[in-house]
Amino acid sequence: LSPILIHIYLYRKAQSKELPSFLLLGPSGAGKTTLLTLFANGTPSTTHTSQEPQTALCRLPSTVRSSEDRYRSEHDTSSRSQPQFLLVDTPGHGKLRHHAVTSLTSPGSLKGLIFVVDSAATSSSAGLTAAAEYLYDILLILQKRHTHSKTSKDPTALPVLIAANKQDVFTSLPTGLVKSKLEEEIARVRQTRSKGLLDSGIGMEDANVGDEEGNWLGEYGAREFGFGQMEEHGVDVRVAGGNVRGEGEGEGRVEEWWGWVGENL
Ligand code: GDP
Repeated sequence: LSPILIHIYLYRKAQSKELPSFLLLGPSGAGKTTLLTLFANGTPSTTHTSQEPQTALCRLPSTVRSSEDRYRSEHDTSSRSQPQFLLVDTPGHGKLRHHAVTSLTSPGSLKGLIFVVDSAATSSSAGLTAAAEYLYDILLILQKRHTHSKTSKDPTALPVLIAANKQDVFTSLPTGLVKSKLEEEIARVRQTRSKGLLDSGIGMEDANVGDEEGNWLGEYGAREFGFGQMEEHGVDVRVAGGNVRGEGEGEGRVEEWWGWVGENL
């Protein structure tokens, strides 16, 4: 049976049970597809550029605690089944981002977003800007979703994991620096967007509302941006480093990301 057929089968089967899902986002080349195959199969595999979102059925490894485990005693030896979830990969290419936005606005049992960045690419100003602009757009959508949810009973808060990938690469910035650089760059993007100089270009129909405060990401009027500002808008942002691919045949270092998935399942 071809892997694609297996995936389609698993996806159908999974959908019928309304499994929890996580969305993979981030610039092209960040490592989303490789992460998808690692989470789904236990090993990273070579990827090709996809034009359509891909979905994989994943199971939390037995070494990772899920949120349900909070109520279990350390000494509870009764067997437990590790929870399953769907991981949805979205194409990172600018023109294909509407897929990501569509999934965001109709999330079903969406539990959170994993925004993958290439920690080596963020050391160049072009790479940093690309990542920050995309992240800004996503965070603003989540913020507006939260504002809207106060007046309707729809969506609940969605946490975001920023996966600072490719930490194995020599030229990569360390995780703490990826975080602070993204924050600085998002502050710059926010400044520019607030002047209405740029069009975000990703179907934000309500951008013409003229509501300046509603279109301002994070703490209104603040000069600096920090991910902590998203908390009062119901968006919990965590930055964690890792690498999908390791040296040689290693499976990389993704424990922190698994841990985050487990907490949010
Ligand atoms: P996507 O466009 O976000 O789906 O990115 P891909 O998954 O296609 O990955 C882009 C390239 O980066 C591929 O050649 C991957 O093998 C490589 N890659 C992904 N993750 C890592 C990593 O952690 N370390 C290294 N060294 N390479 C990686």
